[in-house]
Amino acid sequence: MGAATDWVANFPGFPDGLSGFTLVERFRLQADRAGLVFAPAHIDRIRSHEMLFELEGGDQHWIARSAIIATGAYPVHLGVPGESKYRGRGVSYCATCDGPFFRGKEIAVIGGGDSAIQEAIYLSNLASRVTVIHRRALLRANQALQKIAFATPNIVFRWESILTEISGGENVTTIQTKSVTDGRLKSLDVQGVFLYVGLRPNSELVARLVDLDSQSAIITNPLMQTSVSGLFAAGDVRNTPLRQFVTSCADGAIAAQSALHFLERIESDPVRPS
Ligand code: NAP
Repeated sequence: MGAATDWVANFPGFPDGLSGFTLVERFRLQADRAGLVFAPAHIDRIRSHEMLFELEGGDQHWIARSAIIATGAYPVHLGVPGESKYRGRGVSYCATCDGPFFRGKEIAVIGGGDSAIQEAIYLSNLASRVTVIHRRALLRANQALQKIAFATPNIVFRWESILTEISGGENVTTIQTKSVTDGRLKSLDVQGVFLYVGLRPNSELVARLVDLDSQSAIITNPLMQTSVSGLFAAGDVRNTPLRQFVTSCADGAIAAQSALHFLERIESDPVRPS
């Protein structure tokens, strides 16, 4: 996943589940021990010329013969009235970042996919009550998450309803929902609204360089090769049928292997880039 979400119940080898942050910390430790060099930087631009990639970020600059894009995905915004006004004042897209501010409070989670249900479970440990608002009467989330959510006493569901408005004073106090079956409007007093209505790939950095699909996901072949030779993509940013930790890890392994083979190929090529 692009964002380290809690709780991860479906990563192989952890039958009791573990927090997304713990999992990522372990990834980091393992990578450190394997000798991987980390260079924290915000990359603003990637250019490609003469079989080289130029990466720019602030006053930093790198030249690479190959690169792997693994920039993840970001949560979709619904665009309902009050959503942008109350962002950071009750509206959130990140339970692990903002959940602790809602200890003992009433929260609504919008959506019925893996993200919504996973985060509703996490938030139920902090909030007094979590109301999941979903537009259908069936969840999209995987069965393991559904089972936990249905067994959690302070998670309740408002089915076949969509969020129509978020309102309040300084901070969120109320939301309005509309039934998709009879159009009836209902309000709900909450202090927090967490929206999980889908993910969009963070592909802007390479949007002019590589081919994207209609959802802005980077198109790759099974070797994680993009439309530009030497440039690979892995994880939620690419056109993957499943966005999970385990699929991102697998993509990363394939992309790294493909990049290595690419470098070996150009190294053995008599006409090499200078
Ligand atoms: P998602 O699977 O696209 O689900 C989005 C949810 O929001 C769906 O329930 C959808 O309803 C609802 N929705 C979409 N547009 C809406 C709208 N305009 N109004 C109201 N509701 C709307 O997104 P996601 O849950 O963020 O998951 C994205 C990807 O990440 C998936 O591949 C997922 O498996 C993966 N993921 C995996 C894990 C995990 O494995 N633990 C955790 C998080 C995410 P409908 O169901 O009616 O379409």
